[in-house]
Amino acid sequence: MNLALQVPSPNCDERAEGSAIELLVVHGISLPPGVFEGDGVERLFTNRLDPRAHPYYATIAELRVSSHFLIRRDGRLLQFVPCGKRAWHAGASAWRGRRACNDFSIGIELEGTDDEPYTGAQYRILARLARALARRYPVADIVGHSDIAPGRKTDPGPAFDWTRLQRALSPRARGPARRVRRPGKV
Ligand SMILES: [Zn+2]
Repeated sequence: MNLALQVPSPNCDERAEGSAIELLVVHGISLPPGVFEGDGVERLFTNRLDPRAHPYYATIAELRVSSHFLIRRDGRLLQFVPCGKRAWHAGASAWRGRRACNDFSIGIELEGTDDEPYTGAQYRILARLARALARRYPVADIVGHSDIAPGRKTDPGPAFDWTRLQRALSPRARGPARRVRRPGKV
C-alpha cells in the first residue's frame, strides 16, 4: 500500500516456496496496554523497546515479533514487513487445520484493547487495506488472532465489531466481504 508509512522491522523471514497469502489476521495491541499514544508498538516491532520505560516493557522487550501493518487510532497506516515476507505475528496457530499461520497470512494490528471500541478511521483503513490485499492475493478469510490461537490469544477482542468490518467491505461486491468469519467460540 502506497499510503503506508514504512517502518522496516528485522523480525521477518522468507515465506516458504509456493506458499500463497490466503489469510488476513486482525490483531489488537497497545503499549503500554490501554495507552493510545507514543511509539511503543513501533519500538517493539523494531527491537527498540526500552525495558526501563515501563514495568510492562521489561516483560516483553526481548520478544522478536512484528506484523505487516499497524493501524493507529486516527487511521494512520504503518508497514513493518513487506507482504511478500513472513512477519512474526501469529505464533503457535492454526486455521482450518493448517498450522503456523505466519506462513500464509498477513498480520494487521489495530491500536487498541480487547474492550475499548476501535475507531471509525480504523475500520475504514482496515477495509481499504483488506480490499487492496484481496485484489493482489488469493485471500480466503479474515480472522482474528483469537480465532487462530484460541485459549492463548484474545485479540482483537469483543470490542472488535466484525459486522462493522463486513459492512465496510461490502460496498465492493467482490473481495473478501462475504468471507469474513465471525470469531469462533472458544
Ligand atoms: Zn495478536
